[in-house]
Amino acid sequence: MGNICGICKTKLSGEIYSSGEDILCSTCKQIVQINGKKSNFNTTNVKKALKEASFINPNGEHHFLCYYTGIPCKIETGAKYDNASLSNAFDLTFDHLEPSYGYGVKGEDLAVCLNVINQIKSNIPATIFKDVIIVLGKCFENSDSSVYSPEFEKEFRDVLHKRINQ
Ligand SMILES: [Zn+2]
Repeated sequence: MGNICGICKTKLSGEIYSSGEDILCSTCKQIVQINGKKSNFNTTNVKKALKEASFINPNGEHHFLCYYTGIPCKIETGAKYDNASLSNAFDLTFDHLEPSYGYGVKGEDLAVCLNVINQIKSNIPATIFKDVIIVLGKCFENSDSSVYSPEFEKEFRDVLHKRINQ
């Protein structure tokens, strides 16, 4: 018996909040409320991203996991601020999977994302983000990564352009 939150699936106790077809716990309600009204997000996609990120670990603790890294996001402050400060690195933010189609049209789909990863990802589309990071990582592994390498430039360029050819 008893209701569960439509997003995090934890048992609801105390006050219950409704949001569209969902009933929510106070934490989820707060995240949805604060982020759903931002100009480039909407409530439906915020809730969808949260549901997809929702995870209960073997100890029964609930987390929202970063779409890109699988790292649990902090929600205490992340629900309130999108802040580039590194002290907010682990805060929960929302990332546009497809940041821009040009002509000012934004992709609608959102993913839960660590603040610091969101900063790094910037406008790189989700479909190529990991490949970009892997190529860059290989570059940084070189002790002399600042030496110009046409091979690296070609590889990097190919990864960045993959999206166009998809
Ligand atoms: Zn909840």
